[in-house]
Amino acid sequence: MQISNHPTISTNADLRPTHLQIDLARLGSNLQAIQAHVGGAQVMPILKANAYGHGLVRVGQYMQSLGVGRIGVAYLEEGILLREAGVTTPILVLGGILGSQAPLFLQHGLTLTVSSTQKLEQVEAAAAAAGVVAKVHLKIDTGMERIGVHYYNAEGLLEATLRCKHVEVEGIFSHFANADAADLTSARLQVERFQEVLRFYEQHSLPTPLRHMANSGAVLQLPESWMDLVRPGILLYGVYPSAQAQRSVAVQPALTWSSRIVYFKVVRPGHPVSYGSTWQSDHEVRVVTVPVGYGDGYFRAMSGKAQVLIKGKRYPVVGTICMDQFMVNIEQDSAFNEDEIILVGESQGEHITESISVEDLAAWAGTIPYEILTNINTRVPRVYLQDQPLADG
Ligand SMILES: *Cc1c(COP(=O)(O)O)cnc(C)c1O
Repeated sequence: MQISNHPTISTNADLRPTHLQIDLARLGSNLQAIQAHVGGAQVMPILKANAYGHGLVRVGQYMQSLGVGRIGVAYLEEGILLREAGVTTPILVLGGILGSQAPLFLQHGLTLTVSSTQKLEQVEAAAAAAGVVAKVHLKIDTGMERIGVHYYNAEGLLEATLRCKHVEVEGIFSHFANADAADLTSARLQVERFQEVLRFYEQHSLPTPLRHMANSGAVLQLPESWMDLVRPGILLYGVYPSAQAQRSVAVQPALTWSSRIVYFKVVRPGHPVSYGSTWQSDHEVRVVTVPVGYGDGYFRAMSGKAQVLIKGKRYPVVGTICMDQFMVNIEQDSAFNEDEIILVGESQGEHITESISVEDLAAWAGTIPYEILTNINTRVPRVYLQDQPLADG
């Protein structure tokens, strides 16, 4: 299958001085830390949006090599890409579906999210036509108002599944609106509403499907929501979902975003830098140019706020960030063409190590870390550190 928006530009790492280096073993140790924290619940890593920028296929293959029981994605095409890359682990597509997509789900052995009786009937019909049994997870809306049957109307959907011969209800789930907040009142109400829905199975003496609702925020701070399975996304990548959420699991970021200086110059006082001439110095300064811009996902909104690291030292990005380049004021310091610049990650100097986090970029851009990670464009080549097997235990 051809995916039309697949990058056509080669992302060969040798072609570009800019890389996203991903330490897969860090993802492995984050997964292990999450698993240890949630005890008996299964951990289903969430790989949507290009694995939060880390690269869907390589992260998917790595998760399979670690033996995870399930992988979660948002869209049908993400599941298909994983299948085409040889990932045979069960994959749950979490997002809303169109009835017309059902045959493709079945063809690729993907687990569907069913969020209404109408969708259930469409899946049943497609599965009957294909002569297969569709695996589905039912989506219950307990307070997000996104997709899912409302908790107060769920019984009809649950009953309808009992009449479907070509649908196997493998799971049932809900999603939190505020699990990463300091105040967990509304999240706890969502847990109660979900538990009310689940009573259906007891009342009908039926086995309860896999119950799940915990995203990263709930993994960190709502043990009563872990149930049979948890769905961490951002935490797997070593980033906390919010500043307020308790940091009850220790995780580490897995990516380093780096580039190299492509130009060095001396800028005279009163000579403004970049589009709109928004910045100028009142004294002579040295300015270097970095071949990264908002077209790579280095948000223009960070203009005037962002900092980068050169040899363990912080320097300000000056002037407006362009599509493919930005400028850095190094004052009277020295830096040379080809010197490494760290945009996200650690930089070592002779006596110091400094680091810039995804949270820093989010603060400069006025957004959340999720948006920074998922906007690092596919034209930035991903480079993977050697896959390392996890130590036992
Ligand atoms: C994105 C998503 C998750 C993971 O969310 P994080 O906050 O990144 O942990 C879990 N479940 C569903 C339904 C999602 O859409």
